[in-house]
Amino acid sequence: MPDISITVSGRNAEGLPEIIAWVLERNLPFSVNFCRQNDLSVTHGDLKLDEEKIIEGMMAAFEVIENNLPERSLLASLTDRANLAIPHMKTCSVGQDYLVFDQHGRVAKCQMKMNEAVADINTEDPLTLIREDQIGIQNISVEGKEGCRDCQWKYWCTGGCPLETYRATGRYDLQSPNCNIYKAIFPEVLRLEGLRLLKHAGELA
Ligand code: SF4
Repeated sequence: MPDISITVSGRNAEGLPEIIAWVLERNLPFSVNFCRQNDLSVTHGDLKLDEEKIIEGMMAAFEVIENNLPERSLLASLTDRANLAIPHMKTCSVGQDYLVFDQHGRVAKCQMKMNEAVADINTEDPLTLIREDQIGIQNISVEGKEGCRDCQWKYWCTGGCPLETYRATGRYDLQSPNCNIYKAIFPEVLRLEGLRLLKHAGELA
């Protein structure tokens, strides 16, 4: 069964309810992620996130979900890089146990930074180089992110994609530029999960 990854930007947020209805009707697993800039998309201004449009699109999509609650949990599927299903300290594995290879055999820390290879396939221990690299993306624990330390969502959100934060602020130790979107949608995602559990309570018992 395919797993559908839906990328939301200011350009397409309005159409989000329609695609969500489509995947729910077919009972397909899916996840919603926010558009992240890369070197090729940076000139497309309309791919940038527009807070208001994204929140509106997400809320409209949640209405669609409420009317067709799936059997599977959406706690880890609706909130970009956040995962409301399990507490954790870092948003992803970049710089820890994550290697990305390109077609030339170069090894980078993240697929968004393929132009900044740290090693190649001939390197004896590329993972150690990735872990020790101090120049590329730094994956800081949410405890070390200013603005996140006292946030009630910190162990589920963990402060967002480090690269996106760096692009927006020049720092890795700050909260995500999508923070306002996250705080608006997290409570709704929890509410949907409660409704989903109630709906399927008989089947889960
Ligand atoms: S990015 Fe915002 S919502 Fe996420 S942990 Fe930090 S302060 Fe909380």
